[in-house]
Amino acid sequence: PAASDDAPSPALPSLIGFDRDDLAATLAAMGEPGFRARQVWHWIYHRGATDFAAMTTLAKDLRSRLATAFTLQRPRVASELRSSDRSRKWLLAFEDGNQAETVFIPEEDRGALCMSSQVGCTLTCAFCHTGTQRLVRNLSAGEIIGQLMLARDSYGEWPTPSGERLLSNIVMMGMGEPLYNYDNVAKALRIAMDPEGIAISRRRITLSTSGVVPLIRRVGEELAVKLAISLHAVTDELRDELVPINRKYPIAELLQACRDYPAADNARRITFEYVMLKGINDSPADARALARLVAGIPCKFNLIPFNPWPGAAFACSDEATMAAFAAILNNAGYTAPVRTPRGRDIMAACGQLRSASLRASRSRRPLDVAGVPGQTTAGETRSENTAAESA
Ligand code: SAH
Ligand code: SF4
Repeated sequence: PAASDDAPSPALPSLIGFDRDDLAATLAAMGEPGFRARQVWHWIYHRGATDFAAMTTLAKDLRSRLATAFTLQRPRVASELRSSDRSRKWLLAFEDGNQAETVFIPEEDRGALCMSSQVGCTLTCAFCHTGTQRLVRNLSAGEIIGQLMLARDSYGEWPTPSGERLLSNIVMMGMGEPLYNYDNVAKALRIAMDPEGIAISRRRITLSTSGVVPLIRRVGEELAVKLAISLHAVTDELRDELVPINRKYPIAELLQACRDYPAADNARRITFEYVMLKGINDSPADARALARLVAGIPCKFNLIPFNPWPGAAFACSDEATMAAFAAILNNAGYTAPVRTPRGRDIMAACGQLRSASLRASRSRRPLDVAGVPGQTTAGETRSENTAAESA
């Protein structure tokens, strides 16, 4: 879109987040033949080009026409924190001043990128700090897939490696409820899965939901990625309090959706996430009830030590309690690791970094939480960064 001379020129749109159809329509509108879209796709999602000038299979004239209409901009990184255990965490600052975060947790032979789907979350799970954040908006497909692309930029993992790679897995477990932003999440994941682009197989993608029952089947049919369910309680009475979406879609309906999930089998088991809250949901009776509840579902558990935040009404269960809980599930035949906290020194847990920057801006300017300016954030996180580096 060409701006007239006297109008302030609007920011150019980024092609990050355009799928094959979008690129085809864009290039057709520029008068280009059909195969161009495939070339541009290759440069963006296989090679990771950050500059149109690098797209040497395109005529110079087309490269410059693209550059006058579009960018290849990823979400802006307000801060990048590097943990001593090689985890990295990015605080993203979007055009409208909103923020979200992305975390990469490396493991021996692979690594999972934890991506956000929304700024904040409309749901208000009692133990989750993201749910206390007032501001909520959906991230666009570009803002979602852009998280993966900037992580690849950061580790220098372009073009898409044909074999082993560091950034091998995606978990949609950052900020937000992915199924309340289904269309954009689905578009971003389709881009991620395309074998001629970023090429992360659906078997290496896990989508976590608090239980948006009506969309679970669609995830299985349309995306066929792995499913994780934030269960956290074995009775409706308790789950109503901990995970309020349970009042709309109670446990029985949620588990039925899991039984019906088309993409689950023994090789692709559903993960039940269970946050360990001291004296709330962590008794041996809870563990036994849990095992009974999921009978017949190909599944495993992920026991998450509660990650405390200021003002939270919960504490994390004791080590011994968590071990006993895990043992009961193991004896019933289920894998149930207690997730070891990683990247503690960079606060690589759900919602924490952005919450820290919001707290800082709140204490400085109590009425202006909305457009957290980069400065405030950068100041806050820079000091965290120093702490992380000297740790
Ligand atoms: N909204 C989605 C995905 C993001 S949350 C969902 O709820 O599933 C990813 C996981 O972190 C969820 O299982 C969530 O319940 C858990 N979680 C949130 N806050 C936590 C905390 N303070 N300590 C431990 N786990 C937490
Ligand atoms: Fe939202 Fe998930 Fe946090 Fe619940 S646990 S408030 S659904 S991000």
